[in-house]
Amino acid sequence: MIHARNARPHPTLETDHGDDWRDEARCLRADPELFVPPGSSWQGHEYQEAAAKAYCALCPSVAPCLAWALEVGDEWAVLGDTNPNERRAIKRKEARASA
Ligand code: SF4
Repeated sequence: MIHARNARPHPTLETDHGDDWRDEARCLRADPELFVPPGSSWQGHEYQEAAAKAYCALCPSVAPCLAWALEVGDEWAVLGDTNPNERRAIKRKEARASA
């Protein structure tokens, strides 16, 4: 999956979104640790997050990756060009829209 089928941070769960998108993931060729920046108090957090998002920005799998990340509720990694706070905001917005 995201990433490499057996690599973190991207698990290898099958999802309703299918699995083929993982084969096209740009992060298959990246260090998985790049996508899991240390805590936000770490001085390089923003830089590392931006570097991870730079991979996502050019990834053909960004849409299904984001859908998957929203589905599984990952709390740590940059996935689908979003960090966990951004995904929580998306989920809150979706919840408000469906209320
Ligand atoms: S959008 Fe980012 S995290 Fe998702 S598969 Fe692509 S490079 Fe990996």
